[in-house]
Amino acid sequence: MEFELPPELEEIRRTARRFTERELEPWASVIDERGEVPDEVVELLAANGYLGMRLDEEFGGGGLGLFPFSLVLEEFSRSHRMFTLIVTSTSGLCPIAIARHGTPEQRDRYVRGMVQGKLKGAFALTEPGAGSDAGAIKTRAQKVEGGWMLNGLKHYISGAHVADVVMVMAVTDPEKRARGGVSAFLVDKGTPGFKVTRIDQTIGSDAIKLAEIAFEDCFVPDGALLGKAGEGFKFAMESLTDGRLGVATSCIGAAERMQEMSIEHAKQRNTFGKPLASRQAIQWMLADNAVEIAAARALTYETIRQVEAGKNVGSGSSMCKLYCSEMVGRVVDRAVQIHGGMGLIRGFPVERFYRDVRHYRVGEGASEIQRMLIARTLTGGRGE
Ligand SMILES: Cc1cc2nc3c(=O)[nH]c(=O)nc-3n(C[C@H](O)[C@H](O)[C@H](O)COP(=O)(O)OP(=O)(O)OC[C@H]3O[C@@H](n4cnc5c(N)ncnc54)[C@H](O)[C@@H]3O)c2cc1C
Repeated sequence: MEFELPPELEEIRRTARRFTERELEPWASVIDERGEVPDEVVELLAANGYLGMRLDEEFGGGGLGLFPFSLVLEEFSRSHRMFTLIVTSTSGLCPIAIARHGTPEQRDRYVRGMVQGKLKGAFALTEPGAGSDAGAIKTRAQKVEGGWMLNGLKHYISGAHVADVVMVMAVTDPEKRARGGVSAFLVDKGTPGFKVTRIDQTIGSDAIKLAEIAFEDCFVPDGALLGKAGEGFKFAMESLTDGRLGVATSCIGAAERMQEMSIEHAKQRNTFGKPLASRQAIQWMLADNAVEIAAARALTYETIRQVEAGKNVGSGSSMCKLYCSEMVGRVVDRAVQIHGGMGLIRGFPVERFYRDVRHYRVGEGASEIQRMLIARTLTGGRGE
């Protein structure tokens, strides 16, 4: 099912599709072989204007709206998840929060470098005792002469081991906690007392690494506080809608690629003298995929349209994130089934997609948390 887009959006999609197929796809297997993203990939994305797309032009960004940005994510996610992660990290919470709320010094120091892909940022909220329940964080920042003293432990922080700066969420007022007692600090790599204590590999591609980071009497100057004390959660909330819709569109792109590969394989693979595509068992899987991808796209595009029009979509972005992340799990599972043994072989894209898409149901607010938020909107209550 074709979704009609205005000509300018269609052009952005077409260009991103061409770029993905010709320029990015050859790097996908290189990223898997090396277990990291070569610098040339970041340079390629920068040279083609795909970094910092959501940031204003004064910061060297593309000044792009949510819809064109989402279409680029959808196209890139047809190839390798790392491409979407690079793009979102240069257009996501860290650079946007600093651009919006940073002092002129903080903006000069970080934003342009992040937008150009020369400076890597990470966002550190999750702790061993606080994941979905982010308000339970314990990392503490205490006011001292000339700055703040940080103590605490964060884990599962994407790319923190290579980050030049980490935006760290810490409790500054234990009485208020999540209600105005959490602040955001910009902590530079190499700050005494700040250590990377573990690097975790996940079920997904080896290039995706999460880090545990520790702060032990880590002093940061007053100039490291982002915005005012107590505003930390507000900054994180501002990026929630974009983050969830970014996951949703990434899931749609990945699902579409899996569906195309499944159809192709089903047409050319013969068993018992006939192509798989002629078997009802296989056709039904493909039909279910088609319906679910179309439904995901309709829901997500409409929600993005409303967000861009300034409408309050309530828990709409949660619906998109929930539906799309669960949908892509089903589509890629069917893709493995349709490909048989081939779908399980390392180095074949279907196998990698199967592992990579599992992240989507946990990161950026797990499925259960999205359901909780949707139900709250429906019932007006706060649940258990
Ligand atoms: C690939 C990846 C990248 C990440 N990157 C970052 C990052 O850069 N920065 C960062 O700060 N964090 C990051 N995270 C951490 C992520 O935000 C957390 O893993 C996520 O919020 C879930 O927290 P948790 O792992 O502690 O699980 P828990 O909160 O312990 O939840 C475990 C399970 O219980 C469910 N659950 C929790 N509470 C309820 C409830 N009330 N009712 C019903 N079910 C419930 C959850 O949905 C989940 O299924 C990343 C995670 C992943 C997987």
